[in-house]
Amino acid sequence: MERSKKVVLLCHCILNSNTKVEGLAKNNGIGKGIVNLLIENEIGMIQLPCPEFMCYGLKRWGHVKSQFDTPHFRKNCKMMFEPYADQITDYISNGYEVLGVMGINGSPTCGVERTCQGDWGGEWTSTDEWQSRLDTVEYIDEMGIFIEEIKKTLDDMKIKVPIYGINFSNVEESYEIIRKILK
Ligand code: SF4
Repeated sequence: MERSKKVVLLCHCILNSNTKVEGLAKNNGIGKGIVNLLIENEIGMIQLPCPEFMCYGLKRWGHVKSQFDTPHFRKNCKMMFEPYADQITDYISNGYEVLGVMGINGSPTCGVERTCQGDWGGEWTSTDEWQSRLDTVEYIDEMGIFIEEIKKTLDDMKIKVPIYGINFSNVEESYEIIRKILK
């Protein structure tokens, strides 16, 4: 088999939904469908690390973007991506096509067009206002922290690689993105 000389970088939970916040992993087959499409088209898949799992583990609560927007988390996101930025550079300089980075819309970390934000945090047992604080959580049209750091790194290195957002709640929309990058 000839090598395709085409690769794509996938946010971690597209290939491994076990790192998602417990309760969030829905088995609607999107991850499997995306992977099948990529395999059928002989696209090499590079799995990015899951920053939330690496920093906060499997027992973390669901967060909003402002909770992860700390110098430490940003620094770690940047550090985690650097080895992948080096791989991208090497692929491109050897004539390979890096088709894109696939993020996860809605995630405070890996969102591309959409992330979640709100006045959320603090000690649950010290307040009876948690429901009204939870009600402030909403989706906004911004990137998550990891994707912001990925974009900054690529921009600083003057590397042009598109970043796409997969929508785990919309199978057809997600497949359409994959078909678009395969054209
Ligand atoms: S969206 Fe990103 S941070 Fe969240 S589970 Fe997936 S890879 Fe991890």
